[in-house]
Amino acid sequence: MKSSIQNHEKFCVVPFVKIVQDTKGTVRPCHWHEELKEDYDSLSDAFFGVEMESIREDMRKGIIREECRKCHDCKTVTLNLIEQHLIICIGI
Ligand code: SF4
Repeated sequence: MKSSIQNHEKFCVVPFVKIVQDTKGTVRPCHWHEELKEDYDSLSDAFFGVEMESIREDMRKGIIREECRKCHDCKTVTLNLIEQHLIICIGI
């Protein structure tokens, strides 16, 4: 799998390492992605659920999801998505 990920620059690690929930209970893979559609009993269930796995599979294949379009559109040539995510989230 590692080699297939390295073959495209559109890969985003975020859905593999986190999930977010806001104060309304809305769950999504990151602050920029649309919310998950299904109801889950826990964040763990959501993280390991079909929707998140579908997002991860698109990342593995290099598919840019429509929900990720804004993130990709604001990407600069000097920043990869992980760097961009860290800058926005923790202000480095
Ligand atoms: S590409 Fe952007 S919007 Fe999509 S999951 Fe990664 S950080 Fe979120």
